[in-house]
Amino acid sequence: MTAITAEGVRAEVRAWLNQHWDPNQGLVQWRNILVDSGWGAPHWPKEWHGRDLPDGLLPIVDEEFERVGAVGVAKMGIRTLAAATILAHGTRLHKEKFLRRILTGEDTWCQLFSEPGSGSDLASAITRAERRGNKWVVNGQKIWTTSAHRADYGLLLARTNLDLPKHKGLAYFILDMHQPGVEVVPLRQMNGHASFNQVFFTDAEVAPEFLVEEDGDGWKIATTTLMHERRGADSMRRYTKPSKRSERIYREEAEEIAIDLEPYKWYPQRAGRVDLVIERAKETGRNSDPVVRQEIAKLLIMARCAEWTARRARAAHEHGRPQGPEGSLGKLAASYVARAANRVHTMISGADAMLAGKDSARNGVIAEILVSTPAISIAGGTDEIQKNIISERVLKLPREPQFDTDRPFREVPKNTLAK
Ligand SMILES: Cc1cc2nc3c(=O)[nH]c(=O)nc-3n(C[C@H](O)[C@H](O)[C@H](O)COP(=O)(O)OP(=O)(O)OC[C@H]3O[C@@H](n4cnc5c(N)ncnc54)[C@H](O)[C@@H]3O)c2cc1C
Repeated sequence: MTAITAEGVRAEVRAWLNQHWDPNQGLVQWRNILVDSGWGAPHWPKEWHGRDLPDGLLPIVDEEFERVGAVGVAKMGIRTLAAATILAHGTRLHKEKFLRRILTGEDTWCQLFSEPGSGSDLASAITRAERRGNKWVVNGQKIWTTSAHRADYGLLLARTNLDLPKHKGLAYFILDMHQPGVEVVPLRQMNGHASFNQVFFTDAEVAPEFLVEEDGDGWKIATTTLMHERRGADSMRRYTKPSKRSERIYREEAEEIAIDLEPYKWYPQRAGRVDLVIERAKETGRNSDPVVRQEIAKLLIMARCAEWTARRARAAHEHGRPQGPEGSLGKLAASYVARAANRVHTMISGADAMLAGKDSARNGVIAEILVSTPAISIAGGTDEIQKNIISERVLKLPREPQFDTDRPFREVPKNTLAK
């Protein structure tokens, strides 16, 4: 077997693009060609639309796509978590039915995990799935479901057995969102955007073949989805810039990005907009205040350290090395940076930071930062949960005491009416 080299990959992808890339075709048509070639997701297995390419060589493929302006496969939103979970745990049927359409962007997905009484402690989910005849029937409620209002399918964690301990009585399903038993109700946040939803299930149905692995494996599979969610937090940023070119494929891609990005368009503000701090200090004259200058310096040092730590984690991953503590620190570091940036923006803008609307500081962006940064400490696992993970898995401190893991879930005291 010949070794895969960077030069070899570059030559191969360049030759392939020279032969096949044409911006005057439809987006889905092009992506199907890409999927068939394996260059759309080259790190995926050969059997499933990939080329078994090591992650470390992906930047070379990206560079060649960028060189000619070629559009890639769909890479935004929960569909990436669905793909990772299906690749790891799905059956042949799941892979055949879903993976191609995830890459072509034809299907969108949502993550039906959190519930009103079950967020950090996801394993205490009480949405029920019962086997009735030849189908699973789902009843209950999920909440904070990003993009559910546009989703074709949902990754559903549901309880199938109340007599087993909480982690064991769960199953993982692929749920068709377009059915009468699924009601999606949008939620509006304090920053004015409506990215989330409540999702109500009333006798919603799932065919048995869309149970992922076995009944009882739900927790194990949810862990795979969550691991990819925490790890992939910044991957979206790389793929969200529409091209300014006018050929059909770019127009179609720009439309797709606008729709996919809608729930995430406040995410830059959620991260604290460290990039605006120096400009704002100059604009307002606060750059001559020694206290503000100190705080700006502290913030920039913290942000730079977090970025370098994230790069170390990425480099380890790309070279096939296991991630060290850096992987667990990244999400928590992002929260600290966002909170510090929020504070510095307030120091710089003073009371103006509270004004929204077009004639306010930076067209309302500064106010939006103030009301968006709390979300980063919650989404994908709160700061406290990240600290627990770091203390237990990285520092090997004793586990948090658990009182509810060994007895039947039915007997665990809870503030909800799980029957
Ligand atoms: C921007 C955003 C997008 C989201 N998207 C989705 C989505 O698409 N799908 C989905 O299913 N969910 C989604 N969520 C929900 C998110 O996963 C939950 O909000 C999160 O897991 C926290 O759960 P909770 O809100 O129920 O808070 P709780 O779990 O009730 O936590 C309340 C407080 O108690 C603390 N706490 C809880 N347990 C412990 C503990 N063991 N030790 C110490 N402190 C603890 C928490 O840190 C927090 O401060 C999203 C949330 C946000 C903000």
